[in-house]
Amino acid sequence: MDILQNGEGLETVIIDLLNSLSAVKDLSELNCQAGDEKELIRNALTILIQNQDMERCSLFLLNDQGVLINLTGLSLNEQSQKYTPLEFKIGEGVIGAAAQTGELQHCQNCLEDDRFALNDKQKNLDLPGSIISVPIFVGQELVAVLNISHPQTYHFNDWHIRMLGIYKNMLGQLISNYRLFQQMEEQISKRTEKLEKALFDIKALKDHFENMSMIDQLTGLYNRRYFYEQANIAIANTKRYGQTLCILVLDLDNFKQVNDTYGHGFGDDVLVRVSKVLEEQVRETDILIRYGGEEFVVIFTNTNCSNGEVFAERIRGAVESLKWEKDGFVQTTSIGLYCLDKNCCMPDGNKDINIDKLVSFADTALYTAKAQGRNKVVVFNKDVLENYSENQ
Ligand code: GH3
Ligand code: MG
Ligand code: MG
Repeated sequence: MDILQNGEGLETVIIDLLNSLSAVKDLSELNCQAGDEKELIRNALTILIQNQDMERCSLFLLNDQGVLINLTGLSLNEQSQKYTPLEFKIGEGVIGAAAQTGELQHCQNCLEDDRFALNDKQKNLDLPGSIISVPIFVGQELVAVLNISHPQTYHFNDWHIRMLGIYKNMLGQLISNYRLFQQMEEQISKRTEKLEKALFDIKALKDHFENMSMIDQLTGLYNRRYFYEQANIAIANTKRYGQTLCILVLDLDNFKQVNDTYGHGFGDDVLVRVSKVLEEQVRETDILIRYGGEEFVVIFTNTNCSNGEVFAERIRGAVESLKWEKDGFVQTTSIGLYCLDKNCCMPDGNKDINIDKLVSFADTALYTAKAQGRNKVVVFNKDVLENYSENQ
């Protein structure tokens, strides 16, 4: 065996072997997912310097400009982390030669070696005795050069060279794994960002459509879907705080005839203008919806019966006063009103009141308004109910 023939004792060889195996084991256990690239390489170099007979080791990473930069280095005698940052172009010095040839470069006596520039030899008192530079590849691609040195000339032997062949592969693998892991992390975080954005857009779209489905496309008023939830809240509040509330059901008079006479488009315009009148007449706290067809419902919150009647009359008058471009055309409305008021309407029946009952009472009053000749406001009461029942 070469190593023994070089005069090494068996004991030394076994110690070298154990150290090398220990380095291989430790390198294989390095976690390439933790910390940054420099920290990972520093940890790997620490393992090498602890287990191998060298004085200094450093790693020169190849950057995008084709320059080898000393990312980090370690020296056995330096406790501090200070390390001179050095750079080599490909082909420059021993390190550059390793990168250019793709082959291990071994300088057994640096002072005598042509690969070192003369001025370096003169000015650099720190010049090591011997150096090995090994190129590190990931696949076919050169990524770095590992550089180890010792103050003595002719220090490194075949054993070092063989082991460096193994270490450079392991370091290449570590760097490759680290970079792949970083790429994966980046991709995951980009995808997560995209996914979050997509979820946000979906939510916005869902809100939009939910909102759209609650809004009547012709008039822009809320529709029945919105109404029930809001009306139930208004009723609950009215009961809880001992307040009063009025519900108004409004139906355009003879609207079928309007369509038949002036066309459906004009009928639509009437609906839009009437809805604007309603919007003007109600307060922000009131609930206004297009109930369907040419019917509208308003809930006047915190409003007693006599005020409710005033509001209803005002609305009826405002619609009647609208001016149209059709000669002699006047749009009138009939309104039924029910008041959830302990002094009015159905004081005994208000206990188990719900929105359907409220609407049906107001509807009954509306029916009476129609029966009494239209263009009228009728407030629901017992007489209204009796007349209605008799006529059914
Ligand atoms: P009444 O005074 O008894 O309420 O008579 P009316 O003609 O208003 O009642 P009817 O229920 O017979 O007719 C309502 C009309 O409303 C019928 C329908 O074509 C019309 N209508 C419902 N929705 C719309 C709409 O969105 N646009 C238009 N132009 N007409 C509509
Ligand atoms: Mg109708
Ligand atoms: Mg009508």
